[in-house]
Amino acid sequence: MDRRAAIFQSLKIFENRQTVVVGAGVSGLAACRFLLSLGARVRLVDAKADLPQDVLLKVHENPASVGLTLEAGAHSPAQFADAHLIVLSPGVPVKKLAHVLQEVDPARVVAEMEFASWFLSEPVIAITGTNGKTTTTTLVGHILEHAGLSTFVGGNIGTPLCDYLMSEKQADVLVIEISSFQLQNCRSFKPRVAALLNFSANHLDYHLDMEEYLQAKLQLFARQDHACVAVIPEAMREELAARNFTKARIDAFTAEAQFDVKFDCPGLPGAHNRENIAAAWRMVRPFGVTEEQARAAIAAFRALPHRIEPVGEAGGVLFVNDSKATTLDSVCAAVKSFERPVRLLLGGVFKGGDVASLLPVLTGRVASIGLFGASREVFEPVLAPHFPLSWDATLEAAVRRQFAQASRGDVILLSPATASFDAYTGYTARGKDFARVAQDIAAETGQDGTGGGK
Ligand code: ADP
Repeated sequence: MDRRAAIFQSLKIFENRQTVVVGAGVSGLAACRFLLSLGARVRLVDAKADLPQDVLLKVHENPASVGLTLEAGAHSPAQFADAHLIVLSPGVPVKKLAHVLQEVDPARVVAEMEFASWFLSEPVIAITGTNGKTTTTTLVGHILEHAGLSTFVGGNIGTPLCDYLMSEKQADVLVIEISSFQLQNCRSFKPRVAALLNFSANHLDYHLDMEEYLQAKLQLFARQDHACVAVIPEAMREELAARNFTKARIDAFTAEAQFDVKFDCPGLPGAHNRENIAAAWRMVRPFGVTEEQARAAIAAFRALPHRIEPVGEAGGVLFVNDSKATTLDSVCAAVKSFERPVRLLLGGVFKGGDVASLLPVLTGRVASIGLFGASREVFEPVLAPHFPLSWDATLEAAVRRQFAQASRGDVILLSPATASFDAYTGYTARGKDFARVAQDIAAETGQDGTGGGK
């Protein structure tokens, strides 16, 4: 156990204190485990009414013996009234709990990441932004490992920080992906290196407006000091500097190679990935990574699944899975990465933004648009005057319709600009379904994935 956790344990700061963890996902369960290890009593609450009591067994084999309980269903003020500390899972927006937290001291409500950060002595690289967080977080971890530093990569992706605290391993550097929901409930979290990759409309269904969303993101830099580094896009430098957003040394990045070291990475195509790579280089530099080490590591990096990932070919038509693209900006980034005509699949639960902002990028690059599932009423009125456009109830029907229209050399791109919850459990399930349809089509047309006549 970490040295600081041991101090908390020995001082018995949490011993027999009632705490509440909100959300029974991977991070919530990790927070329960860690709180129990500090001697706290833990009430796990989750809005899902049908959550079985068995979920507690993932935390402890005998929940009652350690004061671990579950309350599933609608939240009530009584669940929080006696809580010494309330830890929120990453996916839980604090505003949605406002009605039950009215009587609670806000200082007692913290994000899982903030809570875990109290116990960390290792340097942290924390990465936020609207798009590219997972790609860049993974790339930064990969470069550091390649340069011989032991690294923990986690937070929003993979292993929660609370689970890291419970493990015996101590990494040289922690690389953490962090969302704006979590940043809203961080008060002392101070990363050695903090990065904002980009900023555009997202979660506007939750955040009041862009200003509130940006304020949440800037929390990441608020407690940094002169020994820290703030990595930001060059395009945002002036705007952010005017806000006095940090005391850290600012290191701004662009995708333009003439201002910078140029790294080649066949696994990460497109200008947006050049930005991610430029940002990653600035994040690893403070840890002594050399240009040669970074170059070798970046060249060996492979694309992550569901992010501009080729998943099949039939009749010379390439199928590309970018199911993770849930914002308009990431659709633009994906469309721009291809030199060949794109047949674009859009649809699902729209999260906000101006659909017309797609027009300048799609014009001249997109040959047709196949809408599927939800949000037809959002896309069709804006896009139908400019592109051949169809709608189908399911992704499979939309893919098949696009394939029927496609010519050799085209790309059928699933880059849906939406969340997937109208039809799938998540973007992974949506991407896998797309890959399955692509493979079915390849099999039906007698293709082995290497192309042929159509
Ligand atoms: P996040 O973790 O922020 O959701 P991911 O790395 O999972 O980001 O990528 C999500 C989507 O955004 C993918 O479709 C990817 O191609 C696209 N994307 C990645 N980096 C950028 C960027 N810098 N600008 C715009 N879109 C990007």
